[in-house]
Amino acid sequence: MDLGLNGKVAIVTGGARGIGAAIGERLAAEGACVAVADRDEAGARAQAERLGAAGGKALAYALDVTDEDSVNGMVEAVAHTWGSVHLLVNNAGFTRDMRITKMGMDDWDSVVDVILKGAFLCTRAVLPWMTAEGQRFGRIVNISSRAHLGNAGQANYSAAKAGLIGFTRAMSLENGRFGVTVNAVAPGIIDTQAVRDLPHYDKIREAAVKTTPVPRMGQPSDVADAVAFLLSERAGYISGDVLHVSGGRY
Ligand code: NDP
Repeated sequence: MDLGLNGKVAIVTGGARGIGAAIGERLAAEGACVAVADRDEAGARAQAERLGAAGGKALAYALDVTDEDSVNGMVEAVAHTWGSVHLLVNNAGFTRDMRITKMGMDDWDSVVDVILKGAFLCTRAVLPWMTAEGQRFGRIVNISSRAHLGNAGQANYSAAKAGLIGFTRAMSLENGRFGVTVNAVAPGIIDTQAVRDLPHYDKIREAAVKTTPVPRMGQPSDVADAVAFLLSERAGYISGDVLHVSGGRY
């Protein structure tokens, strides 16, 4: 199936590693121009070089998705370099897990901000390009999480990932008539560095094998394949939806 991604300009936030890196690899392999946008500048540069060495078109951009000027500057730079922006993946995010009675203001604000303010700022910055008279095409995928259903120890993260689904639906309603679809992907437990760094990683992996109908942890490429489809021309009649990539575990 030709996904029609060749020549499209894509921004992947948090694209330096993990799920974002896998999404960038998949898009570059389909011929898209990939902006690897991450606060880890060295990591973004290394990842863009890897994509280039594999024959793809990619550039690194240092940005903090919670900073309005940083986001607007990055989107301007991408559009200036490649002519426009067609695809956005709001992927940057992290956890700070603890019981709510131990949760400080910064634990709440930092997690909610990177997930919700980040998606708001990046989406607002790309929409003028996607909805412009001459383009009228755009695809936005927001990386939510199975945690949107609520996880103990993740009040901040669960609230933000559920909020991201509300944001996704609102954006799909506002922008469908301009040829822009907006969807969310909700991964289960994916074997990335962020998860491997957790002190109880071995227990997480064991539990994933025991409790997931497809008995393994997910791989970043599992998420990347789903995202690539939702970003493709083939997915033009799917909008405001949530695709779980969780091996059947809810
Ligand atoms: P990683 O930590 O491996 O990668 C996230 C990347 O985002 C890092 O390079 C990180 O930089 C960057 N980043 C963090 N904050 C910002 C910011 N403010 N501005 C720009 N870049 C930033 O995470 P994963 O690949 O595991 O997760 C990616 C997304 O998928 C997240 O939204 C996560 O919540 C979601 N997800 C992950 C699951 C999993 O099991 N792994 C499951 C469900 C959802 P730095 O290294 O400097 O922090």
